[in-house]
Amino acid sequence: MKKIVCAGAGHGGLSAALLLAREGYDVTVLEAKSRKELGYDWHDCVWLPAFEDIGLVPDNPDFVYPFFHYTYHNPAETMAFSVTKGSLDRLRMVDRRYILNLLIDECKNTGVKFEFGKNITGAIIEGSKVAGVHTARKEYRADLVIDAAGIDSPVRKSLPPVSGVQKEISPDKIIWTYRAYYENRLNKPAPDYQNIYFFHCGKPGMDWLITEKDFVDVLVGSFSPLTKEDIDRAVADFQRIYSHMSDRILKGGTVQKIPIGKAIPKFVWNGYAAVGDSASMTEPMSGSGISRSLSAGKILAETVINIGKNELTQKNLWHYEYDYLKKHGESAYSDSILREFLATLKPEDLDYFFEHKIMTEKEIGGGKIRFSSPAEFLQKVTAFVPKAGLLPRMAGAVLKLRKAESVKSALPKEFSQNVYSCWLKLYNQL
Ligand SMILES: Cc1cc2nc3c(=O)[nH]c(=O)nc-3n(C[C@H](O)[C@H](O)[C@H](O)COP(=O)(O)OP(=O)(O)OC[C@H]3O[C@@H](n4cnc5c(N)ncnc54)[C@H](O)[C@@H]3O)c2cc1C
Repeated sequence: MKKIVCAGAGHGGLSAALLLAREGYDVTVLEAKSRKELGYDWHDCVWLPAFEDIGLVPDNPDFVYPFFHYTYHNPAETMAFSVTKGSLDRLRMVDRRYILNLLIDECKNTGVKFEFGKNITGAIIEGSKVAGVHTARKEYRADLVIDAAGIDSPVRKSLPPVSGVQKEISPDKIIWTYRAYYENRLNKPAPDYQNIYFFHCGKPGMDWLITEKDFVDVLVGSFSPLTKEDIDRAVADFQRIYSHMSDRILKGGTVQKIPIGKAIPKFVWNGYAAVGDSASMTEPMSGSGISRSLSAGKILAETVINIGKNELTQKNLWHYEYDYLKKHGESAYSDSILREFLATLKPEDLDYFFEHKIMTEKEIGGGKIRFSSPAEFLQKVTAFVPKAGLLPRMAGAVLKLRKAESVKSALPKEFSQNVYSCWLKLYNQL
């Protein structure tokens, strides 16, 4: 049976490891951290079907709670829109370490081997393929390396240019986040429970504040690197609005990077496939990083199983990239375009959109501009006139959204360098 090494115990790597081990593959996961240190000390919003798809149900009430509704606020904090319906019933807030333990326990029960405390330094390159990974002390050879080592993966960064896999995630595709749990003086959930702030304190990005019984969960998310002053300002503003939030930090308090938007254009090579943050698969605002990662792992495992006894070449592994982008690419394209457009706006532009009902709960909740009647269309167009200066940028974003359709349909089903190069030109325009 083929030998698989999973670099990093990222969620996508674990889901692929689990499904491949179920089919009898020899799978080893190499993880830099100890098992105890793994993951983050907080809850994340996850899409349940991604777990169900791999046969796991995160249902322990000690670690899982529902996602009821959320309220969006404009930069001037004069307006609030609540989103309560739609797909929220399939979202859950789940303890990150519980998720990882669930995955690791199931992997171990299925025969996956784990080596914790192994810091991978790069890929072993032989000729034009990845033949394994190495740490400072040892080589681990494999038929396939699954790169689940996150945004700064040393495996991805060590691939040669001929692989066509980009080494760095570009800064305009990153959100810098600060996350911490503060003491809740009320000791009960607040009525205004989950809140999302656009351009909070005037800084382009998105912050959230969620009041649970025992803590207040604060996330400060920025389109540019966060300074201590940015964090202090956002936290102080939240304490001003939510007097039940004390300044005692119970958990977290670190800054991390999240890659968001569309995936890197190529995430497979001979003997190599990236999943999750290593391939930049997260979409903002949809609780998608973990779910996309799990789904990528599942699609990759299915591809590898279909490849069977044949070699795990770029050509064969391309079916994984193809199936992943067909399934999730389109929504990622629109989020990527939206993030790029938002980053060009000033806080007062966003305020205007909120206050003149150009952006309402309908658009924010659904991620699309939709008109329920010609009157509504007219109202929005008329309201937009004083902001006509933004029209070229908006038109640019709309054009890109339309291009997303053609990018999706031009995605080559079979890999050949020429056809791929043509598609890449289109993809890079998004
Ligand atoms: C503040 C914050 C809030 C978030 N909120 C959500 C949310 O609500 N919902 C959601 O779905 N997602 C959320 N995300 C995104 C989510 O964390 C990622 O998208 C998700 O973890 C997918 O990443 P991954 O599984 O690919 O890799 P990661 O979770 O980044 O895991 C990579 C693993 O590789 C290991 N590793 C790294 N380098 C090496 C090395 N050299 N050798 C060996 N091992 C290595 C790391 O230790 C780590 O265990 C959030 C992220 C942050 C930072």
